[in-house]
Amino acid sequence: MFLFKKVADLQKYLDNKRDTGNVIGFVPTMGALHEGHLSLIRQSKEQSDITVCSIFVNPTQFNDVADLDKYPRTTGADIDLLTSVDTNVLFLPPVEEVYPPGLDTNLTLDFGDLAKVMEGEFRPGHFDGMAQVVWRLLTIIGPDKLFMGQKDFQQLAIVRSMLKQMQSNIELIMCPIVREEDGLAMSSRNVRLTPENRAVAPIIQKTLQEAKLMIGDKTPSEVQDWAMKTLKDLDFKPEYFDIVDGITLQSIKSFKDSDFVVACTAAWGGDVRLIDNLVFKG
Ligand code: AMP
Repeated sequence: MFLFKKVADLQKYLDNKRDTGNVIGFVPTMGALHEGHLSLIRQSKEQSDITVCSIFVNPTQFNDVADLDKYPRTTGADIDLLTSVDTNVLFLPPVEEVYPPGLDTNLTLDFGDLAKVMEGEFRPGHFDGMAQVVWRLLTIIGPDKLFMGQKDFQQLAIVRSMLKQMQSNIELIMCPIVREEDGLAMSSRNVRLTPENRAVAPIIQKTLQEAKLMIGDKTPSEVQDWAMKTLKDLDFKPEYFDIVDGITLQSIKSFKDSDFVVACTAAWGGDVRLIDNLVFKG
């Protein structure tokens, strides 16, 4: 695996690979890698000739400075994991390579209602920062394919909208959620859960699954109320449990309103914020 810290060096390497006809796959991450990330690398390796993984904890997408400071950083272990799955390139830039002083990297895109709900409501500015860094990394790397996880369902919808608005030809590939044996969605934040909260955390996925079984009997808002109460009773403080159309991300009033229904939730276990989702229909 080649490791690049400087944009110019990475671009020189990739230009050469592109000129010789290689398809470039890209997996952006914030590090503290786990099997979920590695599944994206594996899918990229299957569908591309050269797989580039980036590790960059992007300061502009954290609306809470404490969350940025507490974000786990495990570069040595990450390098070992990436090597174990034969990643071709790791891009590990310092902040000034991604945001060089004097370069305007702001994106002025309008994500409309997509960015106003769920994560957009509880993490103001998060998606502007996320889109900014993803677009900047895409501009640096110039991949043919971009691999992202269904785990961050709303993020994918925003990136899809961004690629459309920027008239980009990059193919966006959604990769399924990888879970721990007890059903908890793998996340870099899981290591920060206390043993007590870690033991209870699978309740998030269980609640999503039980909620899905209620489709025939209850309205979406009744299911939402039940799910919020279930999570609260177990001390996993939910911020939202929204049942939405999978394309527009807007809440549905009846399960008949959409052919593609997804339930998305965010909940706090102590000071750790976890997200998860489950496709109910479609
Ligand atoms: P992050 O490092 O959290 O920014 O995630 C980098 C990429 O990995 C994003 O596209 C995530 O959606 C994806 N990802 C994170 N956790 C999982 C998981 N458990 N299963 C599949 N993909 C994941």
